[in-house]
Amino acid sequence: MNTIAIIGGGASGLMAALFAARGGAAVTVYEHNGSVGKKILASGNGRCNIINTTASAADYAGEDPSFVTYALKQLSFGYFEKLCLSLGLLLDVREDGRCYPLSNEAKSVLIALKSAVTGAGALILTESAVTAISKEESGFVVTSAAGRQRYDKVLIATGSEAAPQLGATADGHTLAKAFGHEVIPTYPSLVQFHLSSKHAPKMAGVKTVAEVTLVIDGKSDARITGDILFTSYGISGLAILDISQRGSYALSRKRRVSIALNLLPRFERHELAEAIEKLFAAVPAQNVQNALYGLLPAKLVTYLLEDARIALSTPVSALNPKQIKQLAHLIGDWRFDVTDTHGFKHAEVSGGGVSTAQVNPKTMESKMVEGLYFAGEVLDIVGRRGGFNFHFAWASGMIAGKEMAK
Ligand SMILES: Cc1cc2nc3c(=O)[nH]c(=O)nc-3n(C[C@H](O)[C@H](O)[C@H](O)COP(=O)(O)OP(=O)(O)OC[C@H]3O[C@@H](n4cnc5c(N)ncnc54)[C@H](O)[C@@H]3O)c2cc1C
Repeated sequence: MNTIAIIGGGASGLMAALFAARGGAAVTVYEHNGSVGKKILASGNGRCNIINTTASAADYAGEDPSFVTYALKQLSFGYFEKLCLSLGLLLDVREDGRCYPLSNEAKSVLIALKSAVTGAGALILTESAVTAISKEESGFVVTSAAGRQRYDKVLIATGSEAAPQLGATADGHTLAKAFGHEVIPTYPSLVQFHLSSKHAPKMAGVKTVAEVTLVIDGKSDARITGDILFTSYGISGLAILDISQRGSYALSRKRRVSIALNLLPRFERHELAEAIEKLFAAVPAQNVQNALYGLLPAKLVTYLLEDARIALSTPVSALNPKQIKQLAHLIGDWRFDVTDTHGFKHAEVSGGGVSTAQVNPKTMESKMVEGLYFAGEVLDIVGRRGGFNFHFAWASGMIAGKEMAK
């Protein structure tokens, strides 16, 4: 019987423990928190966006996103749904491919998974941080708060440093490096942006729908329409989180990042000046500030006009065509320099990690150290928002668990 140590009792580690124990291995899960699965509990605002029915390599980033293809094929949605049912977990499948537990509570996912893991015979050691793993002539020795213990195989499933308040660490990267593995520099993802704008903090609290264009070194890179929210530090909202991976990656590579906001995405660009002219023609006696209140959130109007260098009190009838064109241009392309992300503490996930070039995608085993495996976010794979990160964590954990039990 194979003896297996799984470092990390999160999504990928628990899934690996389930399959390894069911495969007949003697499994010990080391978890440094006082309980396993803290990110599962916090996920999806406590609802756990557990998987996405549409996942493909295109939903992931990393040096080689195609690394996920085999794993996603192994853990197809149909397979996962049956697995969940066997654990007593029913799913609520949304039209856009997102899935949640039918209970609408992340707690039910963790309860089902944890009881299946212990039911299969795996041992879970909490408050047991692993500080070192050494390769012996046969097998490995794992050093933790519980002492030193020998195992045939080891899985590093320690996740990433995103959300350290939930106990996240970069320990997996340190452990991997000790075996000579390359770690691609990490960066926060699904995260808010800090802006250099003096206006942004004054607009804090304004929420609207905008088309957000990410601009890297002066070139448009990606475009997403959705909610934005100005905050005291810069900008948040689902559109920002969704575009953050590429922006954060660029910042981490010291590139110049800005965002361009189109505040009225329902208009085509060429229609915008016409719409403004029509509005102004309807209220010729109004000043431009009051007139724009009919089009945009009031708090934005003040600072937009400041950037357009138009006095708030200017009667709309006094604006010349050039000024209206300039206003329309700014409404459709209001630029803000991004100075930083809001950091790992506020990020849902981390990009970068253990290079996938040195890991076999069909087994999750290291190509450099026999018997050493990796799964989940510790690897250089990061997904979009929408259940894709759990999808890869479950899939890679399942493969590693099955393989280690062989
Ligand atoms: C607030 C929040 C909401 C999220 N919502 C979603 C969502 O709805 N859908 C989605 O797909 N993804 C979501 N994610 C991302 C998702 O939680 C992660 O991608 C996923 O948990 C990664 O699984 P993992 O097993 O790789 O890492 P984790 O689940 O983080 O597990 C790693 C475990 O290793 C433990 N550990 C670390 N170092 C050590 C050590 N030295 N010794 C022992 N144990 C150690 C950690 O305590 C942790 O329990 C969310 C993340 C956050 C922070």
